[in-house]
Amino acid sequence: MNPRVARAHGAVGLDRLDAGLAALEIAGIRGRLAEMALDTEEALHEVMTEFASVGAAASWSVVAGQVGPGKRWAHVTEAARSAARTKFRDLIHKMMDTPAEYGPPDAQPGDVRGCMFCGRATVTVRKADAAKAWGERRSARLAPLGEQRPGSMSGFLCPDCRTAFEAEGAIGTPALSRALVAHLGFVVRKGFNTVHFPGQSVRAFGALPPETPPNSKPWAHLNLDALTEKLERSMFTRRPTERERRG
Ligand SMILES: [Zn+2]
Repeated sequence: MNPRVARAHGAVGLDRLDAGLAALEIAGIRGRLAEMALDTEEALHEVMTEFASVGAAASWSVVAGQVGPGKRWAHVTEAARSAARTKFRDLIHKMMDTPAEYGPPDAQPGDVRGCMFCGRATVTVRKADAAKAWGERRSARLAPLGEQRPGSMSGFLCPDCRTAFEAEGAIGTPALSRALVAHLGFVVRKGFNTVHFPGQSVRAFGALPPETPPNSKPWAHLNLDALTEKLERSMFTRRPTERERRG
């Protein structure tokens, strides 16, 4: 019995796990390889969802008395074995897909070359999650983002900046300020909607001249020390409490 599964999924979960493990056995996967399939929550979940149906079907055939003792799984068709092996190969592939640095996979020529707000070029995710991490391609006018000229930009927002954008509902100064305030480790005080940075001290990365190379660190195109100092003294912001930090 797997206590982790029992705690999280109860008796149904254990049945599914048994069925999943049976499928691994059918596919001829034993020993360390089979253990790998139980190493992470994600892999375990996969075994319980993807493999369970294969294993359950085979187990039922045994219950129905189609084979005698000593010939465990002998009745399983080659097609079912092969299906289980393919599933296992996909699972291993997923597990080997370790997080690395990825930019937006759908970027097009002319797009801003980093996150439109903070200018970072990449986020650390699994390759399979890169598109989700960067969200959809968007466009925005330059004027409200710290650039006093007409025109627009297109590109992507990193996950942190998108959180701010989603809270405000539009790509504009409030979302830009919110993203920067959060990056610098502050929260907006109750009673204020946003932070007003003076003059031209805050610009979106995407408002910089086109072809500006991406920042090596988020917001590196701004004077972060000076902005942090401003926020320390600002009536709009405060440092989050320990509890808020832990989220
Ligand atoms: Zn960003």
